[in-house]
Amino acid sequence: NYTLSDRVNAIQPSPTLAVSQKAAELKAAGHDVIGLGVGEPDFDTPEFIKTAAKAAIDAGHTKYTAVDGIVELKQAVIAKFKRDNQLSYEKNEILISAGGKHSIFNLLSAWLNPGDEVLIPAPYWVSYPDMAKLVGAEPKFIQAGIEQRYKITPEQLAEAITPKTRLLFLNSPSNPTGTAYRKEELMALAEVLREHPQVLIASDDMYEHILWAEFPFANIAMAAPDLKDRIVLLSGVSKAYSMTGWRIGYAAGPQPLIAAMKKIQSQSTSNPASISQYAALAALTGDQSCIDTMVQAFKLRHDYLVEALNNIPGMRCIEGDGTFYTFANIEEMMQSKGHASDIEWCAALLNDAKVALVPGSAFGAPGHCRFSFATDLDTLKEAVARIKDFATR
Ligand code: PLP
Repeated sequence: NYTLSDRVNAIQPSPTLAVSQKAAELKAAGHDVIGLGVGEPDFDTPEFIKTAAKAAIDAGHTKYTAVDGIVELKQAVIAKFKRDNQLSYEKNEILISAGGKHSIFNLLSAWLNPGDEVLIPAPYWVSYPDMAKLVGAEPKFIQAGIEQRYKITPEQLAEAITPKTRLLFLNSPSNPTGTAYRKEELMALAEVLREHPQVLIASDDMYEHILWAEFPFANIAMAAPDLKDRIVLLSGVSKAYSMTGWRIGYAAGPQPLIAAMKKIQSQSTSNPASISQYAALAALTGDQSCIDTMVQAFKLRHDYLVEALNNIPGMRCIEGDGTFYTFANIEEMMQSKGHASDIEWCAALLNDAKVALVPGSAFGAPGHCRFSFATDLDTLKEAVARIKDFATR
C-alpha cells in the first residue's frame, strides 16, 4: 500500500500519450489503426544532424557538460534569436535543457509558489495545467473559441488577471489549434500586461518555424521589447528539425531567472545529453532548408485535411496558420450520434473506425478533437474516408 505524495496525486498522466497507448494496444491485437494522435513529425531527423551526433561520439563528447549546456550551443541559440527574431541575449540568459518540456518545468519550479495563479489560454497544450499543479500553483483558464480563431483578446486578459497572477502562457503557433498571433495582436496583449508588473510571460515558441501564414512569426518579446525583462522564451529543436527523441530544448530570459532555472536543473537532471547537444548545434547552425521541406509537406496535408473535414457533416474546422495540427469542432456530430462528450466520441471513433484522435477536453476545449497531420497524405485520406463512414453510419 503506497501512500503517494499530494504532488503526484494532483496531476494526471499526459492524455495524448494515453491515446497513443490505446491505439498501440488495438494495433498489437491485430487491428488496422490509423493514429492521428501523436505530436511529432513523421520525417526522419535530417542526415547532417545525425552525422554530427556520430562525430560527437567519435570525438569523445560523451561526458558531463556544463549544466546549462555547451558554450557552442548557447552561442548558436543566441545567433538564432538574432537571426530569426532580432533579439539579443547574453550567454547567462540562455539555458539548454532536456527538451522544451524540461525548460518549461524548470521555469515553473523556479518562479511559482503554492497558491500562485497561472493564466492559460484555452485551447492549450495539454501539459501546462498539470505542470503548474505539480509545483503547487493554480491554473486559471481564458477560453477562446473557434469564432475568435482560438486566440484570447486583450479584454479577456485584463479580466482574468488578479493580484495572484504570476505567469501567463502564450503559445503561438498553437498546439492544438494551429493558429498564430499576429504581432499587432501581441502588442495589444502587451498593453494590458504593462499594467500588471507581477506577471511573467512564458512564450512557448516551439512551432515558430512551422508557419505558413501570410504574416511573419512574432513573439511577445518582438512585439513589446520594453517587456523583455518579464519574458521567458521557450523553444527547442524537437519539432522544427524532427528531433523529438533527442531531447533538447532551450530557454531565453532575464539572467536571475535563468540562473534559478539552472540551479533547479543542476539538482535534478544536470546537463542534457552531450551527444544531443552537438546534434542540436548542427541543426541550428546548418542548412535551414530542411525545415522548408517539412513545412511544405505539412501545408499540403493541412489544405487537404481542413477541406475534407469541413465536407463531413457535423464537423467544422478553420484554416490554421501553421503546426501539424488541426482542431475540429464536433459538437454537431456528437449530438447527431448521441455522444455526451468528445471523449466518448473519440473512444467510439477509435473502437468503430479505428482512427485515433485526441479529444478536445484534453486541451481544455470540450466539443472538439485534434488531428495531427504528421503522417502521409494517403493515410490522411483513408482516415477521412473512415470518419465519413463513421459519421453517416
Ligand atoms: N510546447 C508545445 C506547445 C508542444 O507541443 C511540445 C511538444 O509536444 C512541447 C512544448 C515540448 O517539446 P519537447 O518534446 O521538446 O519537450
